[in-house]
Amino acid sequence: MSALANNVKELNRLMHKGCSLLAIVKDEAYGHGAKEISTALQRMGVDAYGVATVDEGIELREYGITGFILVLGYTDPSRATDLSKYDITQTVFDEAYARELSESGCDIKVHIAVDSGMHRLGLSADDTEAVARLFTLEHLTVDGIFTHLCVSDSHLTEDYEYTVYQVEAFNRLLSELYARGLKTRAQHIVSSYGLLNYPEIKSSYARVGISLYGADSEEGAVKNTDASLLPVMSLRTKIIQLRTFPEGSYIGYGRTFVTKRESRIAVLPIGYADGIPRCLSGKASVLVNGKRAPMVGRICMDQLMIDVTDIEDAKVGSVVTIVGTDGDETITAEEICTQADTITNEFFSRLGRRLDIVVK
Ligand SMILES: *Cc1c(COP(=O)(O)O)cnc(C)c1O
Repeated sequence: MSALANNVKELNRLMHKGCSLLAIVKDEAYGHGAKEISTALQRMGVDAYGVATVDEGIELREYGITGFILVLGYTDPSRATDLSKYDITQTVFDEAYARELSESGCDIKVHIAVDSGMHRLGLSADDTEAVARLFTLEHLTVDGIFTHLCVSDSHLTEDYEYTVYQVEAFNRLLSELYARGLKTRAQHIVSSYGLLNYPEIKSSYARVGISLYGADSEEGAVKNTDASLLPVMSLRTKIIQLRTFPEGSYIGYGRTFVTKRESRIAVLPIGYADGIPRCLSGKASVLVNGKRAPMVGRICMDQLMIDVTDIEDAKVGSVVTIVGTDGDETITAEEICTQADTITNEFFSRLGRRLDIVVK
């Protein structure tokens, strides 16, 4: 929680006047626990939240979140009553969808998603007419309008130029809308890397996910900032069985690992169903009593094995750190994700719901 508070403070420090934090807590707050994270953020003064689905939004209301909630993804029009009942703002990304929502007859607040070059969701930034028509729909109130950058985490010159092009396309649309008297409460562009690398971009909200949790998407990600963000999550388990096997013993499915000496092999009650990428088999290490111990054999659905031959004080019940610090050693989520050839966003969001969330 102190890391989360630090990150909120640091991110707020980066924001220009008029910009505020829209905390992205979709998918259980990137696996950190939507309830724990959102209620803590509310106590820290955060009053805007982003989720992927209407059900995630309803859960936030049930946890007592009273602020602004934006669904960034699709909500089936049959759920319009829930949007209205729970005061959840819906993203609309094309005209037909917006009409369907309006025709539900429920009064719904919306933010318009504008495609300025990512070519995922959104109305084209060039189509001022279509965007303008959304303001006329009977049951929709256009509370905001936003776009999403696709290369704000890159420092290549051509990516920098592409980002500038996206921002200009969005701002051009806004001026054309203003000229017609169509104004919204909020206009937003940046997410984590947009804020970190382009803090000067005018945006009513910074839609921050991964940076809030103190992680870089990838090891060595370029950040044009002095913000010091701290990892919020540690992932720990414990040894549940420990046995000594002679040289030449096979460990796990497929007999992919064979002991090269008498070895102490420990079993951990966590596996790929809990989000430990199976492709880490034979590649990654964990920490036991401040020392690195390699994973051995294939990672199973519910267990994995480690070699603690060189960690004499390891015993059943010893705490094992998969991500985090133990003594002088640290394993970062970024390190694991490099080994697994993925980004921390995916690793966090795949952490299984069987894990206990312990708040400290
Ligand atoms: C998930 C999401 C974000 C958060 O992105 P981060 O890179 O994790 O900060 C921002 N905006 C939209 C539209 C998203 O879907």
